Amino acid sequence: QLELLAEDNDIFGVHLEIVKDTVLTESVHNRILEQGMNVQQALNETAREWISMFKSMEDEYMRDRAADIKDICGRLMCSLKRINYNPFEGICEPVIIVAEDLTPSDTANLNLKYVLGFITQEGGITSHVSIIAKNIGLPSLVGAAGILESVVPEDLIVMDAKEGRIFIHPERSVIMKYTEKKRKLDRIKRELADKSMLPAVTSDGHKVSVYANIGSAEEAEALATFHVKGVGLLRSEFLYMENTHFPTEEEQFEAYKAVAYQLEEEITIRTLDIGGDKTLPYFEFEHEENPYLGWRAIRISLEKKDMFKTQLRALLRASIFGPIRIMFPMIIAIEELREAKEIVEECKNELRVGNIPFNEEIQVGMMVETPASVICANEFAKEADFFSIGTNDLTQYILAVDRGNKKVSSYYNSFHPAVIESIRRVIEAGHANEIKVGMCGEFASDEWAVKLLLGMGLDEFSMSVASIPFIKERIRNCSYQDAKMYADTYKKE
Ligand code: PEP
Ligand code: MG
Repeated sequence: QLELLAEDNDIFGVHLEIVKDTVLTESVHNRILEQGMNVQQALNETAREWISMFKSMEDEYMRDRAADIKDICGRLMCSLKRINYNPFEGICEPVIIVAEDLTPSDTANLNLKYVLGFITQEGGITSHVSIIAKNIGLPSLVGAAGILESVVPEDLIVMDAKEGRIFIHPERSVIMKYTEKKRKLDRIKRELADKSMLPAVTSDGHKVSVYANIGSAEEAEALATFHVKGVGLLRSEFLYMENTHFPTEEEQFEAYKAVAYQLEEEITIRTLDIGGDKTLPYFEFEHEENPYLGWRAIRISLEKKDMFKTQLRALLRASIFGPIRIMFPMIIAIEELREAKEIVEECKNELRVGNIPFNEEIQVGMMVETPASVICANEFAKEADFFSIGTNDLTQYILAVDRGNKKVSSYYNSFHPAVIESIRRVIEAGHANEIKVGMCGEFASDEWAVKLLLGMGLDEFSMSVASIPFIKERIRNCSYQDAKMYADTYKKE
């Protein structure tokens, strides 16, 4: 790896020299031979010793080398564990990434200082890479057939993620047009950001919540700048995906606590939703013909109870630091909800015995993202504290259209009457049982769906931070009375 990277960047040439240095190798060998450590432990100890040695040096240049040692040892550790090291680390100038496909963890590794956007040949708009890209405000175009044959490295590209257009070797006039377009868009964003402290209230006084979808505590930090008060979906799986091991209770507790501190309204943390297109580098999933219909989300948590309890204990402990609520993904049967809630109770009891504080009133709700949960919504609403509609999965399951498959992307349509009718039923079932209904699927940030969702009575819209100012502005420009009448025109007999 380093030999390849060193061809373009001298830093990696230095890394290569360090890796070849016998002092490093001997230090690891000695720990194995003399102290009986295994190789990973020996490497860890060596790294720790070297990093602290460099950090304590007088010379600033030498002190900065600690980061290099950390990087080198991280790379070695990944090789030992046979997991991928960040493939994008060599990037040190502004680029658009063109790839066959990216995994969600690839996206998590992108250096936003240099990556201006990405284009993939595979994937659909609600595949997780697109969602992550949106969350971090990165323009993306997925399902761009033939793009890999059309470009070579160093080509100049203009990408228009909104209109779905790509210009390769653009003419001067195109460059000028898009430079101007970008300038205008940046101005609108700044203006809306200025207005973002205004609440999401319709012109006739109906108030709804507009919350953020996030993947980490770091993303939560940005929310205050946009005057976002709550989180409608924290995809906790990113904490697992960015790690080299299942995060411990302590690690998770710290991460959830860091989010809890920062917000004054609901912080909805979804328990691990792995499987489908989301894998873990340190856990082997058996091959499945249909991963989206397979072993994923709550199914894994209920089967791997110890892992589930580790997460729940961390969530409960963090709940005294802020208004955390727990949400289960992919529920299809009332028995699953009951079992998951029983395990929450089991964890609560363990914490009580250990005199460890938690919020006794913590809310426990569920995603409604399967046809089964829509049809049985009334039953679920009696036992869940809240609903959040996951239109990304709900649309794929109702329409039998794989959300990540570009071949069928034209069939993927959340405006399909069957999806709209499902959303209506869920909201009605929730309200009939006096629970709030939110939406955290991408449909909640569709500018053309706002009026309809408002009119159907949705209580909470949750989306990537970048969309919040636009959607709030739309809501402020709507009248609730109009929206209700408009939603009625969509009613199925
Ligand atoms: C959804 O399915 O709509 C959702 C929000 O969850 P995810 O996209 O993570 O599957
Ligand atoms: Mg989902």
